[in-house]
Amino acid sequence: MKAEIITSGTELLLGEIPDTNTAYIAGQLAALGINLYYASTVGDNFERYSGVLKQAWARSDLIITTGGLGPTQGDITREVVSAMLGEKMTIDPDLKKELTEFFTRLHIEMPDNNLKQATLILSARAMRNTAGTAPGWWVEKDGRTIIVLPGPPREMQTMWENVVLPRLEASRSAIIMSRLIKTWGLSEAAVDQLVSPFLKESNPTLGIYAKPDGIQLRITARENTREGAAEMIARREREIREVMKEHIWGVDNDTLESIVGRLLARRALTLAVAESFTGGLLALALNNVPEGQGFFKGGVVISPCARFSWNLGEPGSATATLMASQVREKFSTDIGMAIDGPGGPGPAAPGSKLFIAIGNDRANEVFTPGYMGRPEQVARRTVNHALILLRNFVDRTS
Ligand code: ATP
Repeated sequence: MKAEIITSGTELLLGEIPDTNTAYIAGQLAALGINLYYASTVGDNFERYSGVLKQAWARSDLIITTGGLGPTQGDITREVVSAMLGEKMTIDPDLKKELTEFFTRLHIEMPDNNLKQATLILSARAMRNTAGTAPGWWVEKDGRTIIVLPGPPREMQTMWENVVLPRLEASRSAIIMSRLIKTWGLSEAAVDQLVSPFLKESNPTLGIYAKPDGIQLRITARENTREGAAEMIARREREIREVMKEHIWGVDNDTLESIVGRLLARRALTLAVAESFTGGLLALALNNVPEGQGFFKGGVVISPCARFSWNLGEPGSATATLMASQVREKFSTDIGMAIDGPGGPGPAAPGSKLFIAIGNDRANEVFTPGYMGRPEQVARRTVNHALILLRNFVDRTS
């Protein structure tokens, strides 16, 4: 099924309001596994709106429109749809009754203009608007469907949830299942190259996304049964694991801190951290891990003005190692870890380096990741990098 969205409203084209309806519907269609091929926005102009709708009718099976259902002359969606289908709009007595009752409840006399909100065409069924006055239309003709929704996001979403979603779900026979595979240590281009044969396939599909915790791959399978879809995903995951190997660190809802937390808890190891550059971001991540409550003993944040009293020199390998060992002693833990780097207000000097030190009673290791980007981005990336290094360190040394 090929879907297409048309949002209408001159204020959208003027940039006065952002088109959040398209974003919402696009997300909903993706979750339903319905392919969205086009999304367009058109002003409240009969000729241009008709042109866009005709084009959609020629190339799509499912067309979803929002906006233009109000009582004013500028609201033309019903007129455009009925003109294209060659069907006459007539007032539906039930809709008229509901509309009149709505105004009576508000103690307002209904303006005549509102009557057009009670119209229908032969191919349309009305969809009740529980959040406003304009009913939607569900139109079916010649094997195609047009879903006509109101413009205000709250009305549109309420109608979507109450009427549209259940109907689309009922008409959909295939099961859609997906699996997220999380990697670290390779660029998006490198991952793209490794999995390129799978990217061309249409079922299961494979998507690549760059995230702060690495490159993610999403496998999505469409099958008639749940077992069939699960089997397709498992097979593709095995193939991806063969090429991505140790670069994969987790799946689905895994986070780097939860992976590390589980690993430390399993090995009954404890951890303390010292941070300058990341200002407590690493401690915060570890503190939020439910999987390994108890493994994280605590952390220290050292600001540039406190370096002297901690006997810390300039950021460097030796300083980071000292921070890691001091904090390990302070908290009496198996592992101490430190992130050191340029601190204080203002951007880092060109060529600044970061230092991640990890140590236990047998080994000390220091890593120097590069510094590129805005400080807050670098901080998040450094914390993620530190968590990966910690996982590898624990794997190697205990
Ligand atoms: P009404 O019955 O309230 O007149 P309508 O169906 O005619 O609704 P429009 O008049 O096109 O809808 O839009 C009403 C309001 O809804 C807009 O002023 C805007 O605030 C919001 N709106 C419309 N379309 C969108 C959109 N695509 N994204 C976000 N907001 C929208």
